Amino acid sequence: MSGERVQDEQEKGSEQLRREWLEHRHFRYRGCAPDSDDPKRMAGNPDLLVGAHHGPDAFVAEGQKERAVREAAAVEVCLGCPVMVQCDAYASSVVWVGGVPRLAEQEGVWGGRRSLERHKALIAARLEAAAAPDRRFQTPQKQAVLRALAVAWEPFEVAEVAGMDVRTANWQRSSLVRLLGLPKDVSRMRALAVARERGLLEGLEVRADDGTVPAVAPPTKVADPAQPTQLELWHPGAVQHSAAARPGRTRRRRRSRVVSAPMTLDLFPTVPLEAAA
Ligand code: SF4
Repeated sequence: MSGERVQDEQEKGSEQLRREWLEHRHFRYRGCAPDSDDPKRMAGNPDLLVGAHHGPDAFVAEGQKERAVREAAAVEVCLGCPVMVQCDAYASSVVWVGGVPRLAEQEGVWGGRRSLERHKALIAARLEAAAAPDRRFQTPQKQAVLRALAVAWEPFEVAEVAGMDVRTANWQRSSLVRLLGLPKDVSRMRALAVARERGLLEGLEVRADDGTVPAVAPPTKVADPAQPTQLELWHPGAVQHSAAARPGRTRRRRRSRVVSAPMTLDLFPTVPLEAAA
């Protein structure tokens, strides 16, 4: 999945989670809602003022101890809240601000977790995702082509080392370059360097070329059947697959099945004179 698509998905996911929280049938009974008897107080704990989950605004000083006490009381309210799960899912979801991932609700106690806890969880999740091998590269064919590309570059050789036909190997080479987020005309050495940075070539020795070999194999065009294809130029053994190597096979023209028979329509038949008299 491309970076922009991931961002879109996360933005949409966060919006969906917010809706699920707001539209939950028990939302009105949430702990941090205003008390019906005294709207300044919190329904989940009348000793607390509404807004205790977020603390005083930035212009009012709050000591560390007071903050810890206030947050602990807010967490207690959350623990008895009927929409705690939905609240936490939304507040800890990811939105993108200026190309940077952020918590949907950065400040305050949400879903029973303080801001610091939620930020730590987000960082841990990101580190874990970065360390985990990308599953898109884990298919047997991609692994085989990547290993083959590390030691070879001619299409037929890569295919042979990877244990697949040339067409499939070429397609996998293009796919790998696309997944690595590189341009189509990237060199093989550059593509392998990026793959190594992403931990995809662990324990593999790379056989260097002169730096001009493309990572994506050139297309195999067959303009003239009498001329050798690119594949045949790369590897003479491939000639047995070409049309030129099959002289016995000639194209037959298909005959039309519609048979046209000549037919005349006699509009002025010749009548014998005796009959006409
Ligand atoms: S979980 Fe906490 S912050 Fe979220 S709605 Fe309930 S009481 Fe409010």
